[in-house]
Amino acid sequence: MTKCDRCKVREAIVFQHHTGLRLCKECFMDDLRQRVLQQVRKYRMILPGDRVLVGVSGGKDSYVLLKILSEIHDSSKIIGVMIEEGIRGYNRSEVFNYMKRICNALNIDCILTSIKEELGYSVDDFMELQLKKFGRIEISACTYCGIARRRILNIYARRYGADKVATGHNLDDEVQTYIINILRGDIMRLLQLHPLSNVHSKLLVKRIKPLRAVYEYETAFAAYLDNFRFQESECPYIVQRPTLRARLREVLNELERVKPGTQLRFLQEIDMLLEPFVETQNRNNLTLPLCTRCGEPTAPGRKLCKFCELIDTVIGMTNIEA
Ligand SMILES: [Zn+2]
Ligand SMILES: [Zn+2]
Repeated sequence: MTKCDRCKVREAIVFQHHTGLRLCKECFMDDLRQRVLQQVRKYRMILPGDRVLVGVSGGKDSYVLLKILSEIHDSSKIIGVMIEEGIRGYNRSEVFNYMKRICNALNIDCILTSIKEELGYSVDDFMELQLKKFGRIEISACTYCGIARRRILNIYARRYGADKVATGHNLDDEVQTYIINILRGDIMRLLQLHPLSNVHSKLLVKRIKPLRAVYEYETAFAAYLDNFRFQESECPYIVQRPTLRARLREVLNELERVKPGTQLRFLQEIDMLLEPFVETQNRNNLTLPLCTRCGEPTAPGRKLCKFCELIDTVIGMTNIEA
């Protein structure tokens, strides 16, 4: 048996690539918690007394997020929200019941809602309308689903008086998104990704990603060590054609194999590099305009928000004004 490199007592069960350490379960979990705490404190993500709304997808990341948050913050101030997408062949009720039991065990309140209930059109509705109008898929289900979930989390955060919206994005996700925004030259989004960026509307609740310095393989392993039940069914809309994100993931994993710790160092460097620009932008006190149809905030210079625009595209003005 190999002893844990940290406590030198218990049996090592995980090899942490970026530190080169072999750790036992307790020391590994403690390391993840410390890395989350370091991010939370450094960027003042959660202040004492903050009410935190957590987007719960039912995957390993949301499980690890709920667990660590319950260890570092008052559970009575945490609310989980699960959003049913409305996709045939992608039955979520079993997963949601399972997550509800996990929340109960952690003393976290948990709410279930659906895209249809909140916004009128499920993911399937959106795709069917689109097929009817264009005869083919112009906008991916993931685009609609992502925008809809984000909207709903923000609406619930306001409704429940939450100070922050937490999501389970991990280090791999965050590095991919940073690089995608760099490749697109989207400076506004790039700065918005930084944990110190302000929201630019009273109607938006600040989003935080406490797991942003934790590798995806680490959240997967932490969930596995806790006997977390991984969801078996896969969303039928998952596209086969490799997206930019999927390709980046491959390249980054390869770099990580050659030079462990690459993504963690990249995150630390780019966070530091962007910080002065984020602070300048925060001082500008930009206020986003409101969508003329639904009243939610939208990007500067736009009349409609992204959500209304999507619905408009598949329905057309005539039907929606009727
Ligand atoms: Zn140990
Ligand atoms: Zn709108």
